[in-house]
Amino acid sequence: MSDPGPAGPNPPGAPVRLVILGRQGSGKGTQCALLVDHYAIPHISTGDMLRDAVAAGTEFGQMAKAIMDRGDLVSDDIIVGVVQERLAKDDAAAGFLLDGFPRTVGQAEALAGIAAPRVVVNLDVPTDLVLERMLLRGRADDTEEAITRRLELYEEQTAPLVAYYDGLGVLVTVDGVGEVAEVFARVVKAVDANLGS
Ligand code: AMP
Repeated sequence: MSDPGPAGPNPPGAPVRLVILGRQGSGKGTQCALLVDHYAIPHISTGDMLRDAVAAGTEFGQMAKAIMDRGDLVSDDIIVGVVQERLAKDDAAAGFLLDGFPRTVGQAEALAGIAAPRVVVNLDVPTDLVLERMLLRGRADDTEEAITRRLELYEEQTAPLVAYYDGLGVLVTVDGVGEVAEVFARVVKAVDANLGS
């Protein structure tokens, strides 16, 4: 039967499965570090996983590097496979924070069939502010062309995820402008309210 019992659909101790959405440069990385510590869950960043593969110089890494250098997205099939493998590891059983995935509705649909997120945080920071932050960050793959391309892609492909998750009733939009601690307090409050519901 589908009756979740007296504890409801999300009893205490249920896996804390979180997704964080936000434009590159929204302060997402900083908030992720604080969140995984707070909820004691692994931080699963597809960007970090791809950069590790690039650094390891594998054939997969070389293919990923060419795509990342252009600011394009790795195909859904490939990245879904990478995430599926990662989520099958023991540490993800207690929950996870996915960062950088899903990036398309196709990826979100695939994730729903693997481990549906309970709360999706949309960290909201205006585009002009994130552009400024990314240029200041000065990472090797942060050429102006790649940044512009990624922001365009974000609007085209990732912003629809906000509507997708809103429709599923798991989206919380949090104002990402402000001091790190202040933004973190807002995020935790929103996540806790939705984990309990
Ligand atoms: P990030 O660090 O999340 O900004 O990711 C860096 C780059 O890795 C992106 O610009 C994409 O080229 C690639 N990437 C990371 N996550 C994904 C994903 N979920 N789907 C496709 N490509 C991705």
